[in-house]
Amino acid sequence: MTEESTAVTTHPFLDLAPLSAAHFASVEDRVARLLDTRQDVVIMQGEALLPLEGAIRGTAGPGTTALNVITGPYGQTFGDWLRDCGARVIDLSVPFHAAVTAEQIRAAFAEHPEIDFVSLVHAEAATGNTNPVAEIGEVVRAHGALFYLDAVASVGAEPVLPDAWGVDLCVIGAQKAMGGPAGVSAVSVSERAWTRMAANPHAPRRSYLSLLDWKERWLDAGRKALPHAPAQLEMLALEACVERIEAAGPEKVMARHRSAAAATRAGALALGGGLEPYVHEARDAAPVATTLRTPPGVVAAELVARALETDPALPLAAGGGALAKEMIRVNHYGPHATRGAVQGSLAALGAALAEQGLAVDPDAARRDAEAAWQ
Ligand SMILES: *Cc1c(COP(=O)(O)O)cnc(C)c1O
Repeated sequence: MTEESTAVTTHPFLDLAPLSAAHFASVEDRVARLLDTRQDVVIMQGEALLPLEGAIRGTAGPGTTALNVITGPYGQTFGDWLRDCGARVIDLSVPFHAAVTAEQIRAAFAEHPEIDFVSLVHAEAATGNTNPVAEIGEVVRAHGALFYLDAVASVGAEPVLPDAWGVDLCVIGAQKAMGGPAGVSAVSVSERAWTRMAANPHAPRRSYLSLLDWKERWLDAGRKALPHAPAQLEMLALEACVERIEAAGPEKVMARHRSAAAATRAGALALGGGLEPYVHEARDAAPVATTLRTPPGVVAAELVARALETDPALPLAAGGGALAKEMIRVNHYGPHATRGAVQGSLAALGAALAEQGLAVDPDAARRDAEAAWQ
């Protein structure tokens, strides 16, 4: 055989040097800095549903009374996990066009003082709303309940501050506003949460879902040896995406998302054709993604399909499940938090509405979106 035929072809994804424990720990520290937290940060080797589920199964059990706030599809899932753990669950459902208020949380505690766990989604990419976590955190802390937060869709698009807000379990993923990989995720864990898990006989142990395993085998052992082979490519991608956010400045990245949301909202209002912001109040609208309501007789999924025919790269989707009829999602996050993505989405939606005979004003949409971007 010739030398060429036996040589291994190099590839940027392959044959990498092993990811050391020190390197892994440094990525954790970087994520902790991004969240401005002194809590332990565990990077779990899977998509965000892994720490989301692991944190609930670790802390909830038959003795738990959980207030589960539902402002979108994930809240539903958390309620199912909590019930599955044997917890008593009090669901607080909020219409998808709004956000939950601290007052509603206060009222729930007044009615059920035994609540000792609160689960909340910060921003909902699926429904386009965002919840006032700082205010809610004050209420939760005053009652001493454990506070669990899904910040997957908010991190990178708006501040996520577990320490300042008293969040005990704050889960993030990089695949939305951080513009990073989907295959690893992180959770910050407070001392209180660790104590609750250690005392929970039902908490997963010797399991892929187990946060306690990571504590015992990794954190408490001084982060010197990884419990198993890390998801190396995903860890490198997470490091690169945090590095990119640090280099750009987290404030700038968040401002880009805020601008994209404001521009989409203003542009949709100016466009007309019966299109309306799905979330009624601008203050309840998430910076990560903007949802729009289609006029009666216009099926959102069909309108989106038509708009995507003009440009398949646009960050447009219809709402999930029953919402596919009436909800358009403009996923202006990560690489799509740009003027181009917003203007392109508005133009394509405008053209699709015009095709259906609806009166639209694309020039006004462009102008108002541009003005709102500032
Ligand atoms: C995107 C997202 C997740 C992660 O779930 P995927 O289904 O993998 O995208 C979790 N929580 C929220 C609120 C999200 O927006």
